Amino acid sequence: MVYSCLREKGQTMTKERILSGMRPSGKLHLGNYLGALQNWVQLQEAYDCFYFIADWHALTTGYADTAQVKDWVRELAIDYLGAGLDPEKSVLFVQSRVPEHAELHLLLSMLTPLPWLERVPTFREQQQELADRDLNTYGFLGYPLLQTADIIMYKAHWVPVGIDQVPHIEFSREVVRRFHHLFGTEVFPEPQPKLTDVPKLPGLDGRKMSKSYDNVIYLSDSDATLTQKVKTMVTDPARKRRTDAGDPEVCPVFDFHRVYSTAAQRQEVAQGCRTAAIGCLDCKQVLIDNMLEALQPLHERRAHYVAHPHEAMQVLEAGSQRARAMAQETMAHVRDAMHI
Ligand code: SF4
Repeated sequence: MVYSCLREKGQTMTKERILSGMRPSGKLHLGNYLGALQNWVQLQEAYDCFYFIADWHALTTGYADTAQVKDWVRELAIDYLGAGLDPEKSVLFVQSRVPEHAELHLLLSMLTPLPWLERVPTFREQQQELADRDLNTYGFLGYPLLQTADIIMYKAHWVPVGIDQVPHIEFSREVVRRFHHLFGTEVFPEPQPKLTDVPKLPGLDGRKMSKSYDNVIYLSDSDATLTQKVKTMVTDPARKRRTDAGDPEVCPVFDFHRVYSTAAQRQEVAQGCRTAAIGCLDCKQVLIDNMLEALQPLHERRAHYVAHPHEAMQVLEAGSQRARAMAQETMAHVRDAMHI
């Protein structure tokens, strides 16, 4: 099903709708960018995109310490805009600025069987991963339902997700089917996961790139910081001396080359590595030059919004108003269907 939407300039567009969001939890790193944001930027061209900052979701695991949530919302807005999300093409908004999400979540909670939530794989997995927090809470159990409300509020057809999030989308589809079955009317499209191959980038120490491992390159890192971080990255441990041959297949630096370097450059450094014709610093310098060039537009856009954070907040305010207008329409349909 394709929905028409009337944009401000008076054009009628018939594009399928995408919705996605991130929790504000601090600065974004290159893994976040390649794993999601870069794809979101591309999707803006072909889809009607709604991208939000999920500040209520941040509370489902971080309810005990909310002091920085507002700052992180602003930081995430700067990272969204720096990455190239364009308010002329996409609706960028903050979840808590559209309180209809809470109403839809509440109404859906009336009809959602508890075992459906309990069997969502991330419920147990995250409780184990975040064992230092008490996640035996109503909000944490219910977060996939809040996510469902986020998605179906805008009648989104597609949700760009990683493979681990697919059960959440299937859960949303089940909730939609149950709503339609109970109230005898079709209000929402069933959302589908949009899986995309994303380049894998390890952390500076070769493990998964993660803030908790302190092995990340932030979008906010200056050229000098990025250069320094790449220079100290781990390499093939067999290359202890400059004269030792190495194996690019076991070197995290070469994983970065796969993302940022041309095929010809990769071939050249791989051969130089295997024959010890080049040293690791030579190899890394090629990478550093390519990374700085690729990230320059992002760094420039980001620097603008760092200098003018109020502009980023104005984008969110305007986007939240647009999102809210649509959410109010959806809630009118939902209340009608539920006879309330
Ligand atoms: S030359 Fe490059 S690919 Fe080879 S071990 Fe050194 S950094 Fe890694």
